[in-house]
Amino acid sequence: MKKEIEQIKKKNGFIIDMDGVIYHGNKLLPGAKDFVRWLKEANKKFVFLTNSSERTPKELREKLNRLGIDVEINVFFTSALATAMFLASQKPKGSAYIIGEAGLINALYNVGYTMNNVDPDYVVMGESRTYSYEKIEHAVNLVLKGAKLIGTNPDVSGPIENGIAPATKALIAPVELATGQNAYFVGKPNPLMMRKGLKKLNCTREETIIIGDRMDTDIVAGIEAEIDTCLVLSGITSRDTMKAFAYQPRYVLNGVGDLV
Ligand SMILES: [Mg+2]
Repeated sequence: MKKEIEQIKKKNGFIIDMDGVIYHGNKLLPGAKDFVRWLKEANKKFVFLTNSSERTPKELREKLNRLGIDVEINVFFTSALATAMFLASQKPKGSAYIIGEAGLINALYNVGYTMNNVDPDYVVMGESRTYSYEKIEHAVNLVLKGAKLIGTNPDVSGPIENGIAPATKALIAPVELATGQNAYFVGKPNPLMMRKGLKKLNCTREETIIIGDRMDTDIVAGIEAEIDTCLVLSGITSRDTMKAFAYQPRYVLNGVGDLV
């Protein structure tokens, strides 16, 4: 264990998932504050990579701030930002009909996209609290008229304090079923998300590690991108559920607190 911790601490680049690693809902996880302090003091490069598309980097920074962690705004990389970069490279200055929150809407505006509910290039969906029958009906008909269907992340659900909340893949399912079209998902484990994270870090694969709590997004994304993986048991995965997967993480920790 001690040797493994030293190996992890020797890495230069850290790609860190947030929910289940740093916090759970609005509760900071043990050692998270010390871990981030260590990252800064040791001059490590790090990025918080989250599949949630709801919040803007500014909102994420404020959330961490409320929990007592102070970081720069540019350390956040969300599936909403990845989706915006992906769309900007596929069709620069395109248009979209969006079902999502500020994180997604701002990200698309920032890459020069316009909002269009008549004949958009894309229907883009992310986590949303303003989901309605009318919006789904509208999205279905735009897709049938030729708009491409994009989901920010393939999570079916996410943890909240009193249970789970349906996430993007569950929210987009009615549009897929009614149109017969499958959505394209950008967030983890899509390698795009890892490559963009690495680029942001400006580190090589070899000097980087991904730390996350989900086997089917964080760990598989790391393995398929050939980045060392570290599973933390502070989120949704236990040692027993981990063992059921065909692939295994390189390192397993109780939480990021083990590193400090
Ligand atoms: Mg997580």
